[in-house]
Amino acid sequence: MHGHGQEHLKVLLRSSAIQKRVREMGHQISKDYKGQRVHLIGVLKGAAIFLSDLIRQIRVDVSLDFMSVSSYGHGSQTSGQVRLMKDLDTSIEGLNVIVVEDILDTGLTLGYLLRVLQQRKPNSLKIAALLDKPERRIKKDVKADYVGFQIPNEFVVGYGLDYAERYRNLKDVCVLSLPPS
Ligand code: 5GP
Repeated sequence: MHGHGQEHLKVLLRSSAIQKRVREMGHQISKDYKGQRVHLIGVLKGAAIFLSDLIRQIRVDVSLDFMSVSSYGHGSQTSGQVRLMKDLDTSIEGLNVIVVEDILDTGLTLGYLLRVLQQRKPNSLKIAALLDKPERRIKKDVKADYVGFQIPNEFVVGYGLDYAERYRNLKDVCVLSLPPS
């Protein structure tokens, strides 16, 4: 598949495989929270597509909210700095919260988010990540409770994930190779 300019895309996870796995994740969550209510917190913008598919596979009472943090800026290298850009609309006190992330990479973003959210006294706090790059983890104590796919250490785009705001619309998750700079 061809990307923009000299950027090259190679399919890593096909749309059909993603849809099947997201269905399984939704069923697992429905089983784990049977008879309870869950509150999904989507981390903008990357997780928006995953969250919109996941929430429709959940069969228990569910509500949602969004948060936004800055991590990557416009490049493909993490800055290691995390800043809260948009906070939640409502309190999470006493709720069964699941943070929905597109990808767990170094763990710095989720580590920060979990610290912030834990202070707000949810009844429980779990993580659902579509993708996990375990090789890249810096914060070793950050683990996802629900993981879609473990992937190798490559920069991926599609299904919500961007490179400089592009490629979020791809149905497959693809590895992006950049021209040598
Ligand atoms: P972490 O803080 O775990 O290093 O990074 C989490 C965030 O970095 C993700 O939410 C995502 O925005 C970004 N990120 C990490 N790896 C990739 C990748 O391979 N592709 C894209 N597009 N974003 C990534």
